[in-house]
Amino acid sequence: MQKIKYNLEVIKNKIEQAAFKSGRKASEVTLVAVSKTVDIEAVKRAHNMGINDFGENRVNELLLKRESLPGLNWHLIGRLQTNKVKDIVGRTTLIHSLDRWKLAQELDKRGIVLGEEVPVLIQLNVSGEEQKAGFEPGELREVLAAAEQFKALRIYGLMTMAPLDSDPERARPIFRELFQLRQKFSDRNYRNVNLKYLSMGMSQDFAVAIEEGANLVRIGSALFH
Ligand SMILES: *Cc1c(COP(=O)(O)O)cnc(C)c1O
Repeated sequence: MQKIKYNLEVIKNKIEQAAFKSGRKASEVTLVAVSKTVDIEAVKRAHNMGINDFGENRVNELLLKRESLPGLNWHLIGRLQTNKVKDIVGRTTLIHSLDRWKLAQELDKRGIVLGEEVPVLIQLNVSGEEQKAGFEPGELREVLAAAEQFKALRIYGLMTMAPLDSDPERARPIFRELFQLRQKFSDRNYRNVNLKYLSMGMSQDFAVAIEEGANLVRIGSALFH
């Protein structure tokens, strides 16, 4: 109890300072508490301290926790298998991990069946690491243009993961590039596209990500451990 409360104070202070450095208010940055390693009791404690957005990287885990706390915003942040699409559409606030064409088609199809919009972020592999999921930055134009054809899928921004490194400064160029990609395409008015969110920054590097323009930060261990 005390631990989460203390951690949250530290995180909030860092968010405030980093937002200030980027000329914004802390209220413009949403903390997504990544609850993948903790139980529902810890989620409830964090919610009682004012957190409303939670992130999970597995569909089944997200659905279980959501059943206990349906009023919260549940974000899917991990890789989504196409066979889980039918379970997740309509039950998540935002999918951060649209990382391939096949998945876009399946999400759109499912949204049409349910008659619901499917809000997603495009995950970009900015660092170019072999093992990382995501579209290549060079594919972004094509993905946004293709979105014109979607009937249910709606693109609300971009997401990336920086390489794990003990020095958060090494992540800065990655975050800066995502911000610049957003700027490049934000005034082109593609249909079904509104690039308002930049989901970047985790426990290690969220302050740097916010300095570079993040407005969704995904924080797990720094909050819960
Ligand atoms: C686990 C996870 C996070 C949070 O990582 P921490 O280092 O614990 O803050 C953020 N984003 C994704 C996609 C994750 O899987």
